[in-house]
Amino acid sequence: MSAPNWTNPETIALHAGWRADPTTGSVAVPIHQTTSFQFQDTGHAARLFGLAEMGNIYTRIMNPTVDVLEKRVAAMEGGVASLALGSGQAATSFAVLNLCEAGDNIVSSTDLYGGTWNLFANTLKQFGIEVRFVDPADPENFAKATDARTRCWYAETLPNPKLQVFPIAEVAALGRKIGVPLIMDNTAAPVLCKPLQHGAAIVMHSTTKWIGGHGTSIGGIVVDGGNFDWEAHAERFPTLNKPDPSYHGAVWTQAVKPLGPIAYIIRMRVILLRDLGAPLAPMNAFLTLQGLETLPLRIERHCSNALRVAAFLAQHPAVEKVIHPSLMDGEAKRRADAYLKGGYGSLMGIELKGGKEAGQRFIEALKMFYHVANIGDARSLAIHPATTTHSQLDEQEQAASGVTPGYIRLSIGIEHIDDILADLDQALAAATGPSLKAAAE
Ligand SMILES: *Cc1c(COP(=O)(O)O)cnc(C)c1O
Repeated sequence: MSAPNWTNPETIALHAGWRADPTTGSVAVPIHQTTSFQFQDTGHAARLFGLAEMGNIYTRIMNPTVDVLEKRVAAMEGGVASLALGSGQAATSFAVLNLCEAGDNIVSSTDLYGGTWNLFANTLKQFGIEVRFVDPADPENFAKATDARTRCWYAETLPNPKLQVFPIAEVAALGRKIGVPLIMDNTAAPVLCKPLQHGAAIVMHSTTKWIGGHGTSIGGIVVDGGNFDWEAHAERFPTLNKPDPSYHGAVWTQAVKPLGPIAYIIRMRVILLRDLGAPLAPMNAFLTLQGLETLPLRIERHCSNALRVAAFLAQHPAVEKVIHPSLMDGEAKRRADAYLKGGYGSLMGIELKGGKEAGQRFIEALKMFYHVANIGDARSLAIHPATTTHSQLDEQEQAASGVTPGYIRLSIGIEHIDDILADLDQALAAATGPSLKAAAE
């Protein structure tokens, strides 16, 4: 059955990539909890291994439950195909390793998730891959740091803690001029932003966050936009344009041409997933699909609640500063309005007047908000990044990434707004010492 070409995320989230099971009629996506798949005959087996025909072989490489999630997220982002992985970190690693060999480099925004920062600043060095960090305030910085061995540019749509939206179209356009693809981590802005429409070549998500949405499953996904000409810049992309000795000399830009512009994502599946592992488990794909089905609806509530919380905290006497795109001005606000449609996201930073100690008292006084190292859950969450998520960065690196000692990160959930505001209000009262209270009055 050929599916209609939906463009509305509400419909895509429920219908893309699946109708009903052809043998049982099952409407919910079945959990194919199996490692392997029976071949029809020896010819069928040979065609699958030779990529003459696409089909299930072994769950490390592909699985029908995971396949539905891959199709649905690809449709939601407007890409041609995607690859689900066991975590967002695996997705970032694969997105880069798919293009880089030892001696190559990439250019990345400094505004990154802590785990990505560590991967880029330390672990990729082990593989001989250099990451050049640049300030995204000026898009030209990406071009300036680029040379003949630069394989891609990397950034996050809505990076915390600064929450300054990345200039996707500006940077992507500069890259396309010299044949460098932009990879966007869109974890914090699903539905709100479609980086591929703004010129990005590849999008990744930690599905652990908003897409899963219920704090049940770690997962990641890489979406191929199918909009980048890897062949036109063949010398920059040897992994896609040189014969691959591990696949009887296949040249990926040629080998899969009949299947569409999917050289990047196919190579990631049949080489990196084959050799490095890190598949998403079928059960986790199922749970992530359950989350995805209501994602657009949840995002609406996440955003409307966050808008109310930002306004409430901005006028609260115990709060020094609120960091949320809705409250920004100048270029930061212009970028937020240009790239986020339908809301400003549900991440927020606050600095309390009492600094680090007040911050810790505040977190301990929260009764409904969970104190966890997660974001994007349907529940409201809070954490103190300097002593947790960003504690492996030294002070300079923390400052560069926007983490000040008193910064508290909130991820606003979909509870009733009255209960969210009440919990924040009582925790602020508890955190605010008598002197501060007097000062505020
Ligand atoms: C959480 C997160 C990741 C890493 O994802 P995991 O699923 O935890 O491995 C990457 N990027 C961003 C923006 C994240 O929030």
